[in-house]
Amino acid sequence: TTEVHVVGAGLAGSEAAWRLAQDGVRLRLHEMKPQKFSPAHSYPGFAELVCSNSLKASRLGSAAGLLKEEMRVLGSLTMEAAQSCAVSAGGALAVDRTQFSDYITAKLRAHPNIEICEGEVREIPQGFAVIASGPLTSDALAAQIGKLCGKEYLSFYDAAAPIVAFDSIDLDKVFFAARYDRGEADYINCPMDKEQYLRFHHELVNAESAPLHDFDDAGRRVYEGCMPIEVLAKRGEDAIRFGPLKPVGLRDPRTGHRPWAVVQLRKENACGTMYNLVGFQTNLKFPEQKRVFSLIPGLQNASFLRYGVMHRNTFLDSPKLLDSTFCLKSDNRIYFAGQMTGVEGYIESAMSGLLCGINLSRRLRGQQPVILPPDTMMGALSRYVAAPNDDFQPMGCNMGLLPPWPERIRDKQARYTAVAERAMESLRRFMAENQI
Ligand code: FAD
Repeated sequence: TTEVHVVGAGLAGSEAAWRLAQDGVRLRLHEMKPQKFSPAHSYPGFAELVCSNSLKASRLGSAAGLLKEEMRVLGSLTMEAAQSCAVSAGGALAVDRTQFSDYITAKLRAHPNIEICEGEVREIPQGFAVIASGPLTSDALAAQIGKLCGKEYLSFYDAAAPIVAFDSIDLDKVFFAARYDRGEADYINCPMDKEQYLRFHHELVNAESAPLHDFDDAGRRVYEGCMPIEVLAKRGEDAIRFGPLKPVGLRDPRTGHRPWAVVQLRKENACGTMYNLVGFQTNLKFPEQKRVFSLIPGLQNASFLRYGVMHRNTFLDSPKLLDSTFCLKSDNRIYFAGQMTGVEGYIESAMSGLLCGINLSRRLRGQQPVILPPDTMMGALSRYVAAPNDDFQPMGCNMGLLPPWPERIRDKQARYTAVAERAMESLRRFMAENQI
């Protein structure tokens, strides 16, 4: 019999294992937790969301909404879990991370085709393997992947945002609202006037950062999507006011005006006892985080349940190593999935696991692999990963990946909706033609 292994029960590995098992493939799912935890993981369950609890925008006419809808149609376990553990978050799909992980763990543990193998994988397994050990792959396995793939193997940094206790927020200084009043008023908005903003900015750019260890110089790069707030702030006085602190679509009900800048807090758990500072990934020293973030109106007495941290992020030079089915060109027993393939984000990682699962199971049944159409988000992103690129950088889903709408539609939302509807139609047609 053919051995099939999935290494890592994170976002990608859980999804790949589920798909394979549902297609009748027997497999071993290896996970090093709870014996060993990466610096960012702390929960023993599978598919742990290590930072934000948001799976981004819900509406179809958005890149993340489209990606999620495509995954739903393809039977994604991540989407099923997210639906059942959703917490209200305006126009976004956010989840209770504990319930989310527990849901996925229970499903995988109960599946008759899946054998769970606890413990760190230190060698590339024999037989077929989906390697989905994530951006914080353990050192021993990372060294083996380095050997297998050569020196195109890279590492760089990523950062996580702090979390504060709801009951420590001064509710007299903040207001509840969703941007543009989309959905429920789920965000806590901390408004700043110009003077408060300038003082905050000054303290932020002059605050002391924590030292960073164990990275080679070649890897000292910060990925834009996870850039620490203090690094972004150093780009100019208004950089964060056009970024995470943008006030657009928000009006302070007490003044009736749009504030100069707004820090948004998003619900971290279903019962709303914890809130995270949206976009505040940081590498500041913990006492500095307390000092500087306490300048945010409403957070003057905040109790920080978790401080922001920075971590390693490892990814492959996929255009040189992988094809669009996430299969290693030099050894076609081996697939990679998740963040290490250079897709960026929870949903994107799960998406690559789903495609790996679909393709490996097709292969084991003697069917041709499939690459989804380029006008679908999944197709576009998986093609991006393998397309020739001399300066490959991780990529999350975005509308720029899709072919533009052929006619002119002035309204951006209407245009995105048209592109998204085209994608869903194209996906359904492709699924029917290829019996997926
Ligand atoms: P993971 O979900 O990390 O899964 C990998 C699994 O493999 C883990 O369970 C790990 O324990 C296990 N493992 C590792 N090595 C071994 C081994 N040798 N043997 C056995 N098991 C092993 N994305 C977002 O969309 N939003 C965010 O807010 C966000 N924040 C992030 C914050 C940090 C600090 C990091 C590092 C990443 C963040 N990301 C975020 C990016 C990315 O979406 C997540 O890292 C996502 O979890 C990646 O999914 P994955 O399946 O590739 O890896």
